[in-house]
Amino acid sequence: MAKGLTKRSEDYSRWYLDVIAAAKLADYAPVKGCMIIRPNGYAIWEKMQSALDKMFKDTGHVNAYFPLFIPESFLKKEAEHVEGFAPECAVVTHGGGKKLEEPLIVRPTSETIIWAMYKNWIQSYRDLPLLINQWANVVRWEMRTRLFLRTLEFLWQEGHTAHATEEEAEAETLRMLDVYRKFAEEHLALPVIPGLKTDKERFAGAVRTYCIEGMMQDRRALQSGTSHNLGQNFARAFDVQFQDEAGALSYVWATSWGVSTRLVGALIMAHSDDQGLVLPPKLAPIQVVIVPIWHGDEEKSPILSQIQSLTKDWKDDFSFKVDDRDNYRPGWKFNEWEQQGIPIRIELGPKDITKQQVVAVRRDSGEKQIVAMGDLKNYIQQTLPKIQDDMFKRALDYREKYTFFCDDYNQFKKEIEEPGGFFYIHWCGQRACEDRLQEETKATIRCIPLDRKVEDGKCLLCGGASKERVIAAKAY
Ligand SMILES: [Zn+2]
Repeated sequence: MAKGLTKRSEDYSRWYLDVIAAAKLADYAPVKGCMIIRPNGYAIWEKMQSALDKMFKDTGHVNAYFPLFIPESFLKKEAEHVEGFAPECAVVTHGGGKKLEEPLIVRPTSETIIWAMYKNWIQSYRDLPLLINQWANVVRWEMRTRLFLRTLEFLWQEGHTAHATEEEAEAETLRMLDVYRKFAEEHLALPVIPGLKTDKERFAGAVRTYCIEGMMQDRRALQSGTSHNLGQNFARAFDVQFQDEAGALSYVWATSWGVSTRLVGALIMAHSDDQGLVLPPKLAPIQVVIVPIWHGDEEKSPILSQIQSLTKDWKDDFSFKVDDRDNYRPGWKFNEWEQQGIPIRIELGPKDITKQQVVAVRRDSGEKQIVAMGDLKNYIQQTLPKIQDDMFKRALDYREKYTFFCDDYNQFKKEIEEPGGFFYIHWCGQRACEDRLQEETKATIRCIPLDRKVEDGKCLLCGGASKERVIAAKAY
């Protein structure tokens, strides 16, 4: 039997890494802070990609690819952008054995190179809107890394759109935020709060940054996607103007939005348990595993042929695997598939053939059920969506249990430590109070939720007037 995992209650960070190791999702690379995504982890990312890619295309976007290297001078064109990203940039100074005339930045994000090209592609209102997405890797030289959540190099998608009006750009920013919300809730089974970032947390070069925030099982927040309204900042930096219908020239309005392999981290931290990974069926590369139980070769072949006839019409409806390996015992296999988070396990032995039944086990709840072979396909088709729904509900219940309204700073300081969670607090809007909150409690303002209500209150820190509540939490 494989070794047990650290318990969540004992050491949450250790548990997280144990889950990743046991499920064979990723490994640290020889270069500190880099990550190797192993086949099991990459398969989950591919499922995410394919669902998101469809959602992007359904909203009118197309894919393109821009280079990894960006001339250093490009990055310097947008003042806030360079200030925000320069400290974490990797810079190439030599190539082909020679010192380069101009250093190249390994992209931390692609606004600058894309807007340098948009200058050539956009002349008239007829060229707008331009709705492009890119699937790529980016590099941000982080000092403190953690598998999937923060690594030097990571995989993501970045949408970059150009519009004729400010209203269109804002509508696009919010449309894509909602695509992310929908993806998080319907695929990751993770309830998220869409909101606006404070100026302090805004993307470098954006006018407004929106985000979705989810709660992990240690009650910390994880920013799971961002969508930025870039205003005309990049159009001005790269001089991208278009001629409107009346013939007048004006700067183009921009957005950018992205989610990354961080979502694999979100998935692990939101749902997994002390036995290992728990995958929502929609993102599980294998949804059903069948473990035959036999003693000796004389039992093996009738069981395998029974399985073959059972599964003959399954492949168009869900993904499954028959674990017919000879060199592992059934108990070992159960444990392994449990650690890998496969949503449904089917056990089938010689007695089950006589009774024409199987044992079905749900990974999310541990629930065991005897299912008649004749009903098995039907059972699986009904249970997979049920698991997906139940996982969402469990995560939502958890978040609601640890969401508080707080108007007393001393109480906040205590409760942010234990139990922790999302705290709706009043804030006056001043940067000084936001900084103080972070310095004194390590919590940050995660977002100003979009569905906020107007409500008179006093800033939790300075007592100044506040019209709405923001969400404060400790975060990854
Ligand atoms: Zn204040």
